[in-house]
Amino acid sequence: MAEALVFTLKGESVPFTIRRSDRKTYRVSVDIDGSIRLLAPHLASDKKCAAFLRQSRRWIERQRAAMLRLPKAPKLKYVAGESHLYLGKPRRLKTPLASKASVKLDRSQLIVSSRQEPEPSAVKAALEKWYRLQALDVFQVRLMACLQNSCFNEGDRPSAIRIKKLKSSWGSMSRSGVLTLSADLIKAPIECIDYVITHELCHIRIPSHGPDFWKALTRAMPDWKARRNTLEQMLG
Ligand SMILES: [Zn+2]
Repeated sequence: MAEALVFTLKGESVPFTIRRSDRKTYRVSVDIDGSIRLLAPHLASDKKCAAFLRQSRRWIERQRAAMLRLPKAPKLKYVAGESHLYLGKPRRLKTPLASKASVKLDRSQLIVSSRQEPEPSAVKAALEKWYRLQALDVFQVRLMACLQNSCFNEGDRPSAIRIKKLKSSWGSMSRSGVLTLSADLIKAPIECIDYVITHELCHIRIPSHGPDFWKALTRAMPDWKARRNTLEQMLG
């Protein structure tokens, strides 16, 4: 879970979250509601994170001032016309009436059909179920594709694959070889899904994030940093 903490800025208490992940450096960003998000390495203490925010105080103040003047981006309401991400591309939501309830992707449109005037909560539930089904398929196919990499062999096969709602990471690899992937990854481009899978596959041989791990990952996927950046920019 990302932790919710508070940072004092010009006498004002500003909420911030820390998201720890497989990274070596810190990166701070300011959301459109003015809240602060800090991306930090796995082992960064709260104290270190707070120190980094204090160092970035000026930049944060400027960003917040700019952000809070912006019109607020609408939160997803699950109504027709909205844009929803799937495999890295925005898809326009349509909610027609039909004799049978279904969810279909038709190029740039996500069509959630219902038998009666749909409630947003029902559209949300139907969409989430659909995303999960796609994730089951797509992640399996991408796992097979990633295993074709010449850096991996039979021993690098996960014992099982699981999809979960993860809040603070995109994936994990257990000691027993169970690969867990975040359900939200299905919203990211394929190249980013492949990055997360390849990263986790490298953990089968090297569980920790030492220099050997990063070397192995770079061998398997030389452009992993660009893919990770895309992922962070797109899904945060
Ligand atoms: Zn890792």
